[in-house]
Amino acid sequence: MDKDKLKQMAADPQYIEGIYNYCDRWCERCPFTSRCLNFALSAEEFNDPESHDIRTDAFWKRLESIFALTKEMISDWAEEEGVDFESLQLSEAGDETERHMNEAANHPLAQRARSYATIVDEWFKKNESVLEDKEKQINLLSFFDAENRQKRDELVSLSDALEVLRWYQFQIFVKIVRALSRDPELEDDLSEFPKDSDGSAKVSLLDIDRSIDAWSTLRKCFPGQGDEFLDILLHLDRLRRGIEKEFPDARSFVRPGFDDGRGDELLHTESRANAGVK
Ligand code: SF4
Repeated sequence: MDKDKLKQMAADPQYIEGIYNYCDRWCERCPFTSRCLNFALSAEEFNDPESHDIRTDAFWKRLESIFALTKEMISDWAEEEGVDFESLQLSEAGDETERHMNEAANHPLAQRARSYATIVDEWFKKNESVLEDKEKQINLLSFFDAENRQKRDELVSLSDALEVLRWYQFQIFVKIVRALSRDPELEDDLSEFPKDSDGSAKVSLLDIDRSIDAWSTLRKCFPGQGDEFLDILLHLDRLRRGIEKEFPDARSFVRPGFDDGRGDELLHTESRANAGVK
């Protein structure tokens, strides 16, 4: 891709500006792929199977070319705006960012989120053989079509819950560290704008909400492990309440596309199209 094509795509009003900043990056399940510039660029740049694979040269070459293009565009922008990069104390700013990140990663909320990720790993490891049996049952039922519909639904929701837990396992930590690494002075200077830290905290809260639902599903599927699930749910609930206390405005943060109604327009149009309504 060249600069002009990228600029043209970025200016296309079809894409909701910044929608990808506060999503959960689960594009396969996202209803807004057609409104997301990030998704469109990935589809454009990584459109052959080899360039999707992190172990191939093609992937790294493609990534390198994206970074080079980004650097070129930033230089162009700086020149247009009369910004002198040499005069910017980038290494000092980098040190400051690193300090904020380190502090954030050691914050009790981040530590709780990190230990949650370990708990998930331990649970999956401990239940490996049980999960393999369940997977075989799911495959058999989907192959022969289930006579027992209730059993089939239960296995499908279990499979979904397991995917949810794995998807958010580390993301909760990543998002809360991003939220905690806020720069209070900068946020004060930009006080008329919504806070990025609230947006990241909101994503971590939504991840936790979905993980709690998923653990609740598992609790029904494995009734013999009741206490273990309760401990995990308690751990997540404490984390959730801690984040809500640290970021009291997070829940009301309006994420572009997801919370401002622009996404609803798309869903409404698509459901009308699917129903054959013009
Ligand atoms: S907004 Fe949706 S499509 Fe875009 S990066 Fe996030 S999950 Fe993927």
